[in-house]
Amino acid sequence: MVTIAERLDAAYARIATAAKKCNRDEKDITLIAVSKKKPLEDILAAFDHGHREFAESYVQEGVEKVQALNDHKTIVWHFIGPIQSNKTKAIAEHFHWVQSVDREKIARRLNEQRPTNMKPLNILIQVNIDNDDNKSGCSVAQLPQLAELVDNSRQLHLRGLMAIPAKTDSFDAQLQSFEKLKACFDKLQTQYPQLDTLSMGMSADVDAAIAAGSTMVRVGTAIFGERS
Ligand SMILES: *Cc1c(COP(=O)(O)O)cnc(C)c1O
Repeated sequence: MVTIAERLDAAYARIATAAKKCNRDEKDITLIAVSKKKPLEDILAAFDHGHREFAESYVQEGVEKVQALNDHKTIVWHFIGPIQSNKTKAIAEHFHWVQSVDREKIARRLNEQRPTNMKPLNILIQVNIDNDDNKSGCSVAQLPQLAELVDNSRQLHLRGLMAIPAKTDSFDAQLQSFEKLKACFDKLQTQYPQLDTLSMGMSADVDAAIAAGSTMVRVGTAIFGERS
C-alpha cells in the first residue's frame, strides 16, 4: 500500500519537476493538501511527515477539524469552498486563508466578523476564468471593484487570485485557462504590488498550472486518494 507520506513526497517531486521544466524555483510554489472528506488521521499522517498547509471546502467539517487540531499551532488552514453568507462568521473565526471570495457581500462580512485579536484574514479572490455557469467565482469584469473592497478592509489582507478552470484533459487547454488568470494577476499586481499568490492547479492539472506561473497548488486526490 502507498502511504500518505509517500504520496506527499511524490507531490513535492512532481512540483519540483514541473518547476524545473520552466526554469522556475520549486520554493516559489506552495503545496496545499486538500483534506476535505478525509479523516483527521489522514491530516495527522501528512502533519507527521512535516506538511503544514491544509485546505477544507465545507464549513462545518472544516471548523470541526480546525478545532480538533487546535493544539497543532503550526497548521495553516485554507478555506477553498463555495461560501454562503450565513457561514462567513465560522470561516472568519477559524481559518488563516480564504481562497474563494467571489462577491462583495462575502468580503464585507468576513471583514466585519474577523475577530480583531486575530491577524487579518488572507484573501484570494476566486475568478470564474472560463465563465462556466457551474463554477463560482467573480467575472474578470467584476475583479477590480472586488479587489478594491478587499484591499480597503482592515481585517482582510488581499494576497491574490484563485481559479478552478473548466475540466479538460488537454494540457494546452489547461494552460490557456491558467494563462488567462495569470494575465489578470499581473494586471492587478501593477495596482497592488503586495499581491504574491496565484492559486491554481489541482491533482489533474498541476503541471500546466506551474507552467503558467502558479505559486500555490491545491492537491487532494493525489495525496489522500479518491474521495467517496
Ligand atoms: C477538491 C478541491 C481541490 C483538490 O482537488 P483534487 O482533484 O482532489 O486534487 C482543489 N481545489 C478546490 C477548490 C477543491 O474544491
